[in-house]
Amino acid sequence: MKCQRVTVFDGESDFMKDISSLMQTRLTTDHIPFLNSVAEVAAHNQVSVYVVGGFVRDLLLNIKNVDIDLVVEGDGIVFAQKLAEKFDGRTSRYKKFGTATLMLQGRPNIDVATARTESYSCPAALPDVEPSTIKLDLARRDFTVNSMAIKLSESGTFFLIDLFGGEIDLKDSLIKVLHDRSFVDDPCRLFRAIRFEQRFEFCIKGQTKQLMRSAIENNLIDKLSGDRLMNEIKILLSEVDPVRCVDRMRELSLLQTIAPEIFNDDFHWTIMKKVDSALAWADMIPLTKKPEAWFVYFHTLFMVEDDEAFEGMMMRLNFPSNIYFRMCSERECFVEAMHDLSEERELKPSEIYDIFSKQSSEAVILLLAACWNKRMKEYVELYFKKYCASAKIELNGDDLIGMGMQPGSSFNDVFKALRDARINGQVTSRDEEIVLVESQFLK
Ligand code: ATP
Repeated sequence: MKCQRVTVFDGESDFMKDISSLMQTRLTTDHIPFLNSVAEVAAHNQVSVYVVGGFVRDLLLNIKNVDIDLVVEGDGIVFAQKLAEKFDGRTSRYKKFGTATLMLQGRPNIDVATARTESYSCPAALPDVEPSTIKLDLARRDFTVNSMAIKLSESGTFFLIDLFGGEIDLKDSLIKVLHDRSFVDDPCRLFRAIRFEQRFEFCIKGQTKQLMRSAIENNLIDKLSGDRLMNEIKILLSEVDPVRCVDRMRELSLLQTIAPEIFNDDFHWTIMKKVDSALAWADMIPLTKKPEAWFVYFHTLFMVEDDEAFEGMMMRLNFPSNIYFRMCSERECFVEAMHDLSEERELKPSEIYDIFSKQSSEAVILLLAACWNKRMKEYVELYFKKYCASAKIELNGDDLIGMGMQPGSSFNDVFKALRDARINGQVTSRDEEIVLVESQFLK
């Protein structure tokens, strides 16, 4: 790589590096012409444009990343519109933040932002935002490795801008904050630090680790809104290896602040480690709906059996109401299923059906992970491969009315009896269904 000293910022000389040849070798062929076209539009409109964040980090790490984030020294929304005109695309605009999403045919969406500076009126508050320069835009970011930019230029040269030693930290495999108030300003960064550390097998140490510990001890997480906290937990649990992230949260005492009841609980911890195998095993079974892996881990973290502990945890975390209600109902079914499945005797097919038909795909995986044995796997296979199909009955409400029954809640009992009989193999045709209804409900 060739290094040169050039002036980037008004009145300042900073170190930039020409990384054009690195980009030529590492990026797929269509990236370079696309970025050059973006540079042309920028030059034509007399603004400076930079690729920032994860794309730059991953390029230097030689990891494929197709998500391009652009920052414009100028109006990001107007620039996104210019790009949309040039490439025949569309934009959605977020005026309040000075950002736009550019949607182009055959390409992942591109985020375009106005270079901005942020200030925090109090810890964990949403920041006040003002348009600024790339220098200040990079200074508001989370970690040194995420605070690099590539300047796009009309000449086709790409310059790496690295003001905070991000490249060295990448080489040294370090996650470091840019300043001491970083976690106070935005406690979401606690989760982000763990995520990047575990994903790249990096290390958080020294000052950054101390700042994390102090933010955790001071319970700064409590200041985050339920939505923001939920979002961070969801992204963390969507990592390729979420168990490592959770383990690291445990080590840094972050898990205790969000899920204290399970912190020392071996049962949850054992389940957590089996989820991955359960997901892989269930991938070969025709589940009604593909489970969302992150939600299985989420359940594993928060689905504690004790009512008081569960409610306390939900209150403290202040999750959005849709998540709260889903957790409550799935937890109820899960606890009931664990109870039914703990019986020593072999369950009848209709009992197996009753258990699994109430579960979401995620709860099925959780049940598998909680009872990771041959019998459980057999039950899951039987349910999805056989009982789901054999539970179909032929008689409907009109048929029952035609047989002289009064419509009402009793119909549910009839349908359940018919379904049980079908699953248990006692009834195999419409005629036999009619005989069952006549003998059990019409005499
Ligand atoms: P990933 O590979 O997980 O998408 P990313 O770095 O692209 O990683 P994003 O969440 O898309 O992550 O964020 C893009 C960039 O925005 C980051 O690289 C970072 O520079 C900045 N950023 C995102 N969230 C924060 C935050 N909470 N505080 C400061 N900077 C942030």
